[in-house]
Amino acid sequence: MKCKYCNYENKVGDRYCENCGAMLENASGGNGRSLCSFKGTC
Ligand SMILES: [Zn+2]
Repeated sequence: MKCKYCNYENKVGDRYCENCGAMLENASGGNGRSLCSFKGTC
């Protein structure tokens, strides 16, 4: 998946851009482990 910030083409399934470290938000499927599970409290 391509990073929307730097257009670096990361491997499928990567959650963070290997080039700039930005979070890749267009991952398919229900990941989200990196996100706080209690919205609004963190
Ligand atoms: Zn990037």
